[in-house]
Amino acid sequence: NGIPVAIVGEPNVGKSTLLNRLLNEDRAIVSEIAGTTRDVIEDTMVIDGYEFRFIDTAGIRESTDEIETKGIALTLQKVSRARVVLYLFDARADETPVKEALQKIRNEAGEEVPVILVANKVDLLEHADKNYEQYFDGEDVISISALEERGIEVLIQKLVEHG
Ligand code: GDP
Ligand code: MG
Repeated sequence: NGIPVAIVGEPNVGKSTLLNRLLNEDRAIVSEIAGTTRDVIEDTMVIDGYEFRFIDTAGIRESTDEIETKGIALTLQKVSRARVVLYLFDARADETPVKEALQKIRNEAGEEVPVILVANKVDLLEHADKNYEQYFDGEDVISISALEERGIEVLIQKLVEHG
């Protein structure tokens, strides 16, 4: 039960940190070690009268680790069954890998599933950094810092629009 919202993106972009923010509790393990989240963690939260089921997933990347590979397969399955997908990327990342990972997720999600673009770690951005808002041909990008709790309200508003 609950509207399934899958949080996806490459390892270390802050998916588990965001899940914990959205749930207001330390539910998932956060670590600087990529590949920490292997199993899918999910929990529900009522926001503005809508019950959302947030699904934290393994980061999608090439891996030879057996358990991580299973986690990635499960992630792709969750994406295909989500009502909304939150595609998280590091605001400092280069355009090409960000767009490639998004394409993979879009292929998996199918046409009907909206993908919300979320740039995380904006607290680490400096003036000369990438202009990630221009990566997606004018599509909306929500800028957040899951760590410093910036932009979370805007993100929640966007989610409620899909509720
Ligand atoms: P996941 O692999 O995508 O689940 O990423 P985690 O949530 O485990 O976070 C990976 C690392 O990035 C951890 O060291 C987090 O503390 C850090 N992190 C997550 N969100 C932010 C953020 O908004 N700003 C900064 N500076 N660090 C963050
Ligand atoms: Mg994680």
